Amino acid sequence: ETVSADEIKARHPHLEHEVGRQPMIEIRRMNKWYGEFHVLRDINLTVHQGERIVICGPSGSGKSTMIRCINRLEEHQRGTIIVDGVELTHDVKNIEKVRREVGMVFQHFNLFPHLTVLENCCLAPIWVRKEPRHEAEARAMHYLERVRIPEQAKKYPGQLSGGQQQRVAIARSLCMQPRIMLFDEPTSALDPEMIKEVLDTMVQLAEEGMTMLCVTHEMGFAKTVADRVIFMDQGQIVEENNPHDFFNNPRNERTQLFLSQIL
Ligand code: ADP
Ligand code: MG
Repeated sequence: ETVSADEIKARHPHLEHEVGRQPMIEIRRMNKWYGEFHVLRDINLTVHQGERIVICGPSGSGKSTMIRCINRLEEHQRGTIIVDGVELTHDVKNIEKVRREVGMVFQHFNLFPHLTVLENCCLAPIWVRKEPRHEAEARAMHYLERVRIPEQAKKYPGQLSGGQQQRVAIARSLCMQPRIMLFDEPTSALDPEMIKEVLDTMVQLAEEGMTMLCVTHEMGFAKTVADRVIFMDQGQIVEENNPHDFFNNPRNERTQLFLSQIL
C-alpha cells in the first residue's frame, strides 16, 4: 500500500512543491538473511519527503535490521533499496552518498566519551566533510541550541544526563545536514523523566518537515506525529495504516495482540 501524492499534499500543505518528486526511500521486495536465518521477508516500503513513519513490533521482529539496511550498516541480499534516487549496491560511492543524506540515532547514544559535546558534534563535519573548524562549530552551536542544551557544549558526555546525551546525539546527526533521520528506539534506554525531552526534540524536528523513520514504542508519539504506523512481526511488514486506524481498528490479529500488550 503506498500513499498517493494527493494524500501527502493534504497532510503537508507546506511541502506542496516537493510532492510529485521521486520518493525519498523506496524499498522493493527486499530480503535479508543472517546466515541461514531469513530475517527480513519481502519488505516493501515507500517514504515520501516530509513523511513521518513509526515502526513498531515485538522484539526480534527485524525493526533494527530494516532501519540499518537503509544506510547500509547491514547489507540486504535480494530486492532493491533506493534512497533519494541512489540505489544501495556494492558500489561504495553510492553507499557514501546515501550515508551523507541519512542521519541515525540509536538507543545507546554512542558519543565519544573523551570528546566534549561540541567536539562530538564537529568531528564528522571537520574530518568527513572537510569543513573549516569555525563553520563546523557555529553549526554545532546552532543545533545544540535547537535541542536546548547549548550550555553543555564544553562538557563531556559523562557529565550529562541520559536525556541530554541523547539530544547531543540528535544534534550531532543534524550537523551533517541529513535529509532523512532514522531513529532506533531513541528513548528506550532512558529514565522515564527524560523521555519527554527527547520526544519533544523529535516532535520539533517532525514539525520542521524532516523525513523521519522512528522505531519506537512510544505510542503517544506515534499518535501525534506519525503519518503512518508500520507493524512488523517475524521479518515482515504485517500492517501499515494511519495512526487513527492503526490504534482504533487494527486489522491483523498479531497487531491486535501486540497493542493489547503495550497499551
Ligand atoms: P528488532 O529490532 O525488531 O528487535 P532485530 O532486527 O534486532 O529485531 O533482530 C531481528 C532478528 O535477527 C532477531 O532474531 C535477532 O536475534 C537476529 N539478529 C540481529 N542481528 C543479528 C546478527 N548480527 N547476526 C545474526 N542474527 C541477528
Ligand atoms: Mg531493535
